This record gives sequence, structure tokens and C-alpha cells, in this order.
Amino acid sequence: IIKDTIIMSKIFMKKFVYDFHEGSKDMRALLGGKGANLAEMTNIGLPVPHGFTITTEACNDYYKNNGISAEIQAEIASHLKALEKETGKELGSKENPLLVSVRSGAPVSMPGMMDTVLNLGMNEDVLQSLIKKSGNKRWAYDSYRRFIEMFADVVMGYGREGFNKILDDYKNLKNAKQDIDLNGDDMEEITKQYKALYKKLAKEDFPKDPKVQLDLAIKAVFRSWNNERAIYYREMNDIPSSIGTAVNIQEMVYGNLGSDSGTGVAFTRDPATGENKLFGEYLINAQGEDVVAGIRTPSKIATLEKDMPEAYEQFKKVAQTLEKHYKDMQDMEFTIENRKLFMLQTRSGKRTGLAALKIAVDMVNSKMITKEEAIMRVDPKQLDQLLHPTFDHKSLKDGKVVAKGLPASPGAAVGKIYFDAKDVADRKKEKTILVRLETSPEDIVGMNFAQGVLTIRGGMTSHAAVVARGMGRCCVSGCSDFEIDTEAKTLKTKDGKIYHEGDTLSLDGSTGLVYDGAITLIPASISGDFKTFMTWADEIRTLKVKTNADTPKDAKQAREFGAEGIGLVRTEHMFFDEKRIFQIRRMITASTVEKREEALAKLLPMQESDFYGIFKEMAGYSVTIRLLDPPLHEFLPKKEEDIKELAKSLDMTYEALKMRIDSLHEFNPMMGHRGCRLDVTYPEIGRMQTRAIIEAAFKCIEEGIKVEPEIMVPLVGDKNELDFVKEIIDSEAEKIFKEKGKKIKYHVGTMIEIPRAAVLADEIAESAEFFSFGTNDLTQLTFGFSRDDAGKFLPDYYKNNVYEHDPFQRLDQHGVGKLMTLAVEGGRKTRPNIVLGICGEHGGEASSIDFCHRLGLNYVSCSPYRVPLARLAAAQAAVRNKK
Ligand code: PEP
Ligand code: MG
Repeated sequence: IIKDTIIMSKIFMKKFVYDFHEGSKDMRALLGGKGANLAEMTNIGLPVPHGFTITTEACNDYYKNNGISAEIQAEIASHLKALEKETGKELGSKENPLLVSVRSGAPVSMPGMMDTVLNLGMNEDVLQSLIKKSGNKRWAYDSYRRFIEMFADVVMGYGREGFNKILDDYKNLKNAKQDIDLNGDDMEEITKQYKALYKKLAKEDFPKDPKVQLDLAIKAVFRSWNNERAIYYREMNDIPSSIGTAVNIQEMVYGNLGSDSGTGVAFTRDPATGENKLFGEYLINAQGEDVVAGIRTPSKIATLEKDMPEAYEQFKKVAQTLEKHYKDMQDMEFTIENRKLFMLQTRSGKRTGLAALKIAVDMVNSKMITKEEAIMRVDPKQLDQLLHPTFDHKSLKDGKVVAKGLPASPGAAVGKIYFDAKDVADRKKEKTILVRLETSPEDIVGMNFAQGVLTIRGGMTSHAAVVARGMGRCCVSGCSDFEIDTEAKTLKTKDGKIYHEGDTLSLDGSTGLVYDGAITLIPASISGDFKTFMTWADEIRTLKVKTNADTPKDAKQAREFGAEGIGLVRTEHMFFDEKRIFQIRRMITASTVEKREEALAKLLPMQESDFYGIFKEMAGYSVTIRLLDPPLHEFLPKKEEDIKELAKSLDMTYEALKMRIDSLHEFNPMMGHRGCRLDVTYPEIGRMQTRAIIEAAFKCIEEGIKVEPEIMVPLVGDKNELDFVKEIIDSEAEKIFKEKGKKIKYHVGTMIEIPRAAVLADEIAESAEFFSFGTNDLTQLTFGFSRDDAGKFLPDYYKNNVYEHDPFQRLDQHGVGKLMTLAVEGGRKTRPNIVLGICGEHGGEASSIDFCHRLGLNYVSCSPYRVPLARLAAAQAAVRNKK
């Protein structure tokens, strides 16, 4: 019974430490990426120094209990014993000392974000023993001084500056260019000075007991999970903080033993271009981070073939084995100790979009992976890089970040800043950046001519962001790090630096970072692999991908990117043009039906020709046109001269018009007089738009272009509302049919963007032939978060772990998704063949597209520059959710 109890308790006792022999590549959540791959490499027989991994669960336990529990400590001790047995060495032994590395490794790779301690176990006695055994004084002292420096920095938090200064001063004194020019006596002296500095900083001697060193180092690696760098990296890359890091304890191998030793990092293929050849760097007689830290200029991996042919051959073979085994491009770290190769890490290599596509296509062509596997290899977001000019990687790394906003529209922009759309439009030949507190339709011209747009207010679905994405224009929005003075035309950073009109800034629309001065740009490139790859995605996906486009030009761009129709024409966007905005303002502010009809009559031919242009461009693909949905505040004139001009054309006094504008003022314009509510008040608007759509369709059909217009009613919350507007549409259409003596087919449907509409979708489906989820408004109204203001306070939600993601960017599947599910069920119950799609910004975001696939929608619709991303994300959803 006692024996059984022991066995049972062993089975049920949680295991916090795994020997490399016990792990595998599939255990990355528990062992971290580094630990899981060290285990995998060990188990497939590659040369990996022995070691063990303390799990991510132990890290979380450490944070929960504010320390390492006795249970976990005992497990670490027993694995250390096993390591000593396996290596025949012992931590702290004078006869045969073991030195170890202590390295972090999270489940998601976070290169360079967390900490590492090498050569742990070193003290005076061990040092003497190593010198005696190896006869290599330089190596022993070099290892010791490195350990002191890393321990002081990582474990004690003293930084490295003081130590670097000692080394630099000493090099100057000895006229040594590089650290390898220093000999054993020099290293002894440096170690002495390092120890003295340590004592000064710590007010005690450097810890001698290796067990104490190890305990402190493990805790330091756990703590490094929450250092500023790591937190920032996680925020930037959407990595949850709850996953924790593992700690790897591994027998040291030495690249600093002399000219027959070295250390390096390499990729199995070129991570920038995808070219199939070893790519990397190494340093002779060096250790750890020396290669990446740039203390000496490393050599290209190809020259290793000359320096150490056997080690190179061995490495080439290992690289091939790893790539075949993981079926992906690998990023590896290795050390050569006395001409013998040891592998210290392998992971899937980070790569540019261009490289990702080339590698995926090449691997399918060489039958290494299937098309489906290839599809899963490319991050949809990376396709963006192929559609916009991008920053040169090195220039970006050296750039100075001055502020951070929201990555509203991807791309890279370098230009002189101007604070007025007109100033930008006046400088068409110059590269400019339009800076605004927030954008309004007047800014569209400026946005069109600027390289990029920077707004101080506004979120990811603010209209500035939506319009910028639609245009493929780089945009950083909600950049409240800057203080703007619109009078003085200046931007002030948090550090107090002031940028004036005409100063140069660079915007990274993919990260939201704003850089000082000009970062070097490289043009967009679309290779043949891109096309091949996208064809595979199209074969696999079941969701259709349409686009949100408001002009024939956008429609054309979207078609080139592979859109299969237009899911949303925002008719109000057609009025952003300077001449047209005037007419729409006349219409909005008109105080009588006659005046409004007069303005509408001017708008009719403009709309009709736009719709005609769009139908023609889409050549038979479906086009969904939404009736006018302008939040009034976006269209009302604000400037005195605009109001004066408008008053004149409306035969009104300036004062009377001003009063009219004031009376139209709304406290919550997003919940105000917009969408179908406008048609309820002014049916003549719906009538004009219906006429423009139907007549444009007739014109196309007469020219032999197939058109069956879909007319979409926005902001419906009740069947009666939809019926009211549908009656306007149907009666106007009938009128035209009578006039022409012939009929065409058209469809009427609605947006589902008000929670009430989702709940009552079964009733609404009686009148709607199709639903399109307007998840921008549906998110806004479900959360009660204004889409224009939430950007101001949502960062506090992420900081305090209340939410992990912006619900305006990633669909909130839990809440908003529940409403969508209800609407899909309700819609299908009433009308089994109802067509279902999404046209909110989430239609261009990968995780939301996956949800739409699972929900069984017919299509997603997104801005033209996101169409390739959506095609890939839809294919990935199909592979991921295969039954
Ligand atoms: C939506 O609300 O999701 C939508 C597509 O409409 P808009 O963004 O124009 O309000
Ligand atoms: Mg909407």
C-alpha cells in the first residue's frame, strides 16, 4: 500500500523540471521554445550539451508565491544531481567542476528580451582547478570576468556600463584593439577589477557558493519575464503575459578556448530574401552574445568552411537535418569547442514577408511540405509588407523613436510635417506628412497627397484610420504622446522636444511608432511567388473575400488584389471631394424640403456616375451599396469661410445658417441622426440614392455588363425601420421601371450593427435578403465604447490586464461574437438562404476572419489593401478548422 501511495503521489504530483531527454518540440507551452527544441535536438541525436528545463508553470508559481517553492527547489536539486552524473562533473568541485548556463525561453520567441547568465559555478577554487586542468589561463579568467559581469547585470541589476568601462580602459592602456588581443594576465587583472567593482556596488563579496549563484540566477530569469523590454515586446506582439518563461540549465561549452573555438548564429535560408543558402555569422574565440552584441565584426558563415572545414561540414549537415525535421527555416545558435560542434538553440526563423513567401513556395516545390502547410507558414499580416514601401531594417533599428500611437494603417512614410490639408495639397511635389488633431472630410485631399497621416486623437476605426486604410495610406492615429499646438503649428514630445512645420518625421504604420528625421525607405516588391502562393490560398478557402471600396479607383485596386465583389460602398465617402462636400452640406443644412431636393438633384448625377464607374470596374461581381450613413459632425462646416459660402448658396444669412448648424449639433453623433434614421426624417435622400443606383445599373446592363445591385440599409434596429426604408427603395425602383418600361433585379438587405438588430434578426430577416455585420458600430454599441474616443483609455485596460486586445481591432468573439451567432441563427431560421457577410474593420483581421469562417458566413469584406491578407487568413481558417 505504501509503495502504491508513493507511485500514485508521483503520478499526481505536478512535474516542474524536465531533463532534455524527457521533453519534445511539442511541449513548448510548458518548456518554452528553447527548452522544447533543445529536448527535440537531444532526442534526434544532435550534439547538444546536457541539461534540463524548469517549466513556465514554475515561473507562474514563482510569481504566485513570490518565491520558488520547496517542492520545486527539491526537483531542481535532483535534476542537477542527474546532470552532474551524466557529465561526470560537479558544480563547485575542485577536481572536476561543472559550469552551466542559465537561459530564459518563453513559449513564443522574444529575441533578446530576457536574460542569460553564462559560466555559472565559477569561483576562485574552480578557477584554479580549470587553469590547472586546461593550462589555459586566458580562457579561465575570460570566463570568470564574463560571469561576474552577467551576474552583476542580470541578477543584481547593476547594469554593464561600469564593467564595460573597465574593459575599455584596460584595452586602451594595453593598446589592444579587441578583447582577443588581451592575454591571460590581462584577463586576471580585469577580473580583479570586476570583483572590486562588484564589491563596491553590492557592498559584499561576489557570491562564492555555486548553489547560491544558481538559485539567484534562476530567480533573476523568472523576474526578467517582467522587465520593461519584455513587457513592451509582449504588448507590441500581442503576447499574453500569463504564459511565463521557462529556465534552461545547461552544461557550458566554450567558444572562447582559443582559435579552434568560436560561436555563431545562422539561418538555414536567407531571412530577408528567402534564398536557399546558409546565412549567418560567427566569431572565433568568443562566447555567448559577442556575435549579436557587435564587440567585434563577425565573419560570414561561408568563411567558416575555410577556418574550420570539419566543423563547417558538420554544421551544414545539422542545419539540413533540422530544416527537414521541423519542415521550416531554422534560426540556430551554435558553439564550436576545440573544433567540435555543439547546438545551443534552434527555432523557426523570423523572416520578411518576401522571404516567407519564397520559402513556403520553394518548400512546396521541393515536396518538403504540402500547400496547406505552406499556407499556415505565412503570417497574414506580413503580406502588407509586399503592398507598401517599407523601412530599411537597419535604418529603422538605428532610428530614434519619439512617440507611439496606434498602427492604424500599415506602411512607411517619411515626410515634412504640415498641420493643414491645404498646406499638404499645395506641396504636391514634396514628401509630406499630414498632422491633425483628428481628421475630417476636408482633410481627404491632404491625406491623398501626403505620404502618411498622423493624428493625435482617434482610434483604429476612427474615420481617419478607415479612410487611410482604404487609400492604402500609412497612418498612425491616436498618438497622444505628442502635444499639438495647432496655432503655432508645433508638436511637442514627452521629453519636451518641439517639431515645427516643415520638420521631418517618419511614421511606421505597422507598429504605430514615430521616428525622428528620415528613415530610409525601400520600395514595395511583389514577386511571382506571391501570386503562386495566393492561388493556393484561393483553392483552399471557402469564405469569399470582398472589399470595402467607395470609388472606381479603389474598386480597381481591390480587384488587382483579388477581391471578389464589393461588400460595402460607403456612399458618404463619395462626398469627401471638395466640390461635392459642398453639395452634401447644402443637403444636410437645408431647412426646407425644396432646398434639400435642390441639393439632392445636384448630387444625383454625381452618385449615378460613381455607381456606374464602380459597377463597370467590378464587371459582374456583386456590389453592395449602402445608403447614406454620415455621422453629422463629420460633414458640417466648421470654418467661418465655409459657412459663409454655404449660406450664400442657400440664400441664408450667415447667422441663420450658423443657428441651423448649431441646432444640428449632437452630443453623441455616433448615436445620433445617421444611418436609416436620416431616411426616416428625409425620405427624399433614400429616393435619390435608389434612383442613382438603379439608373446606373440600367446603363451598365444596356452595355452588356451584368449587374444586380444590392442596396443596404444602415443602422437598423427594428424590422419597422427597415420596412420604412425598403418601401422608399421599392417604390422609387417601381417608378423607374414604369418610366423605362422594363425591370431589373435588385436586392435589399441590411447591416447588423445595432445589438437590438442582432437579437431580433429573425424578424428583420423577413424583410432583408442579406445581412452584413457592421462590427465597428456593433462593437461600439455592445461595449458602449465610443469608437472615436476609446483609444484614449483602452491602453489602461491592457496595462492593467483588464483586456488583452483592442475589441475594435480583434473581434470580441466572446461578447460581440455571441450577438453575431444569435443573428446568424435568427436570420437562417427565417430565411435559410440568407446571404451573410461582415464589412466592419474586423473583416480584414486574421483572428476575426477565423471566427467568421467558423460562424459559417458567406464572405468577409475589407479595405483593398487588406484583401490579400483576408484571402490568406480565410485559407488558414479553412485548414485550421478542417473537420
Ligand atoms: C460598421 O459599423 O462596422 C461599418 C462597416 O460601418 P461604418 O464603419 O461606416 O460605421
Ligand atoms: Mg456602421
